[in-house]
Parts: sequence; structure tokens; C-alpha cells
Amino acid sequence: MKRPALLLLAAIFTFAGLVVAGGPIGVTGPASPQQGVPYTWDPAAMPIRYTVDSGPMSVDPSGKVIINNAAGLIRVKNMFDTWSSVPTAAISFSYTGPISVANTSSDIKTVADFNAAQAACRNGTQTPIMFDANGSIRSGLGIDPAVIGFAGICKADGSTGHIVSALVLLNGEFQDGVFNQATSNYELTSDEFDEAITHELGHFSGLDHSQINLEVLSQQVLNCNLDDVAGLPLMFPVLFCQPRVTAGLPKLAPDDIAWISKIYPGTSYSSSYGNINGFIYFSDGISQAQGLNVIARRVDDPATPQNESLTTAISVVSGYQFTGNPGQPFTGDNTAGSAFGSRNPAVIGYYEIPVPPGTYTVQVENIDSEFVGGSSVGPSGLPFMVYANKYWHAYESAYDDPSKKDPITVAAGQTVSKINIILNGTPSRFDQFEEGALHGPWEVIRQFWASMTTLQDAGRTL
Ligand SMILES: [Zn+2]
Repeated sequence: MKRPALLLLAAIFTFAGLVVAGGPIGVTGPASPQQGVPYTWDPAAMPIRYTVDSGPMSVDPSGKVIINNAAGLIRVKNMFDTWSSVPTAAISFSYTGPISVANTSSDIKTVADFNAAQAACRNGTQTPIMFDANGSIRSGLGIDPAVIGFAGICKADGSTGHIVSALVLLNGEFQDGVFNQATSNYELTSDEFDEAITHELGHFSGLDHSQINLEVLSQQVLNCNLDDVAGLPLMFPVLFCQPRVTAGLPKLAPDDIAWISKIYPGTSYSSSYGNINGFIYFSDGISQAQGLNVIARRVDDPATPQNESLTTAISVVSGYQFTGNPGQPFTGDNTAGSAFGSRNPAVIGYYEIPVPPGTYTVQVENIDSEFVGGSSVGPSGLPFMVYANKYWHAYESAYDDPSKKDPITVAAGQTVSKINIILNGTPSRFDQFEEGALHGPWEVIRQFWASMTTLQDAGRTL
């Protein structure tokens, strides 16, 4: 076993109280004239300009360079290219030279160097990609040795909804050719490592985690069912299955491609995608339910060997445009609530999923209870308290057969609306603004250290 028990895909969220969702990592709040819009890099200012550490990408414990800077630059470029090469998305990246921070070497080696680069990122003057060549920064920051790397958005403009700067750190210990359990020096294949960092670049670009084909977690580590892996988002919260590339699959899953395209629509987007939208309701059929995972799955084509309902699926979290904390005056410290997310009650429980033309089923399910903190999916960051698992069908009620499903056909450029699901067996609600409709506590400040501890405690084993 060369991997730690659980590999962690960690994102730093320096936005306090950021609203996140399967789909965009954050949406605009009261400071913006348009609330509930995904945070993105400015589409009018492409390419996104980044700087890179001038040191080696990986050095072994004896100090020998394993991956030099030139090879590291190519690796980073290839990982960015994975996102920029999506044909329906208008996102691009450009390397502008070594990290340039006053009084700090462009070879980021120490926690002090990291802090200086992070400070430059926070004031919006630098988007640094850092090589923690021997893991000493990771260790100095007190981060778990199972963390392969992390990304964080440093600065964003709350009124325009544009990301201004971000940072990425790659933990080179995973690529130093050394596996030593005693020193917690783990090793990954280059496919595994690149997949993990490309996931981080998805956060960097504005994507949140996505939960699809959760059943992989009960399959064999590094040997999951191929159809499940095909549909498994790169933005899935944990690295558990064999890498997509190793399995002969494209680097991105349909969910990743759909969402990067929806938030950065290219010229061909509207002729390549349609939308399915609707609301998730509690059993009363009136109160809108936040924080449930909604998945559109393509109906299986019996003429192909693949099961398209597994390979082609796209998700979002109900209420992803609404705030995780609408604010309340009673404790005196929370009048306005979160800076993120719409205050329009009409978007509570609302979902919208971009899909390539085709025929789909729509289902709702709980977010896995282990996906909390930095691994969370959706605006609340907390699991929905009631078991919710059913498909949409034409005669929805709180008393129907949850496995009954009807197909929904979507053409390119078409939006199919009112695909509303009424949950079975939830407590009745008479007032949609009652605390229960939003299942408090409302605010989860996504705190990166705490989340990693939580995940370690979850203790999935290889
Ligand atoms: Zn992540």
C-alpha cells in the first residue's frame, strides 16, 4: 500500500461563509446587483494569468531533484489545459513567469515564503502555483500528510462576482519516488497525482464538489466499476477510484464538462446543452428543501455496452443559488448573514442542471454524511436531516413509489422546467421560512483544517 488510508482533496476557502454547491463554488450575495450568480474569473479578461514556483516540483528526502522545474511547468500547463480544452467552455490560462513577491525568492520553500505568496494572492496581485517539493510547507502548516495539494480563491469582487486571484500548492512528496510509512511519505502514480491537482484547478476555476455515483465508495479502491468511473466527476470530494486516464477514460466526466461550460459558456454552449430545472419540496408539497443532491442521468441505451445512466450524469444541489445564512437580528452579531448567496426566497430549493441533448431521469438523494467541511457538497455544508431518495415522475406526491421514474427529453437550447420532486416522509412544514426548511445551523464556515480532521476520522480503509 503506497497511499494513505484516505486521500484528501482539500480546498482552502478564504471566503468566510461561502455558499457552495454541486456546480459553482460560490454565488453572489447582497453586494451584487445580481444575486445568486456563480463566482467566475472575468470572462472578458481571459486568459487567467498565473505564476509558478521557480524551484523543482519534487525533491526526495536526500535532496535529490526528482521532478525539475521545467518538467513541473509542463505538468501544470497540462493540468490547466484539461479545463481550457473543453470545447463548449470559454476559459483559458496563461503562464506569465515565476512567482514574483517582494523580498521573497520565487522558489517557494518555507512556510514564510508560502505566507508571503499567499499575502500577495490575498491582495490580488498574484495567482501563484507553488511546488512544495519535499512536503515541508505542508508539514510546517500543520496539514495532514495525506493532503496531495490544495487550491484556494484568495480574492473576489462581491459586486461583479469575479474571482481576482487564487493559489495552488502541489505536495511533491507524493511524486518523490519514496514510500515510507514511518515518515508518512506516500506515493502516487503520476496519473493519480495529476488527477488530484486537476481537481484542485477545478476549484481554482470556480467549481464546487459534485456527488454522482456514490456507490463507488462501496466498491474496491482503485478498481471501481468502469461505468461508474466514467460518470464519476473529477470534482467528486475524495480520490477513491482508479484515475480516469489510467482507466482509458477522458480526463473530465460529463458533470465536469457541463458545469465548466455552464459557468464559462463558449460560443457553442447554447447549441450543445439544454437545461432541466425545478424545485425540491418537503412532503407538504409547498416548502422548498435546501441541500439535497439532484442528478440528471441519461436513460440507458440498450444498444450500447455501457450503461449511460451511470456514464452520463450531471448534478447540482437544491437551493444552490440561495444563501447558506440569510441573517437574523436576534443575537446581535448576525444581522446581514452571509455575504454569499441570493436572498430571494423564490430560489430556495431550486435546482438547474445543464445537460447535453438527450433523454434523462431526475433523482434526488442525500449528500453523503461524510462529505462535510472542506469536502462538502452544497450550500449548507451539513447533511440533510431526513432520508431523501427518489426519482421524479409525472404524478409526484409524498406517497408515491420513490423508484418510479419518467423520462425527460431535452433538446439543445431547450429548458425543461417544473421537474419538481416532492420528498416522501419528511415532517410537514406549514411555513417555508421556518428554521426547519433550511435545516440550521445555517452557516458553515468552511474551515479547511477542521474538515481534514473530520475526513481522517471517517477512516475509510484501502
Ligand atoms: Zn475538492
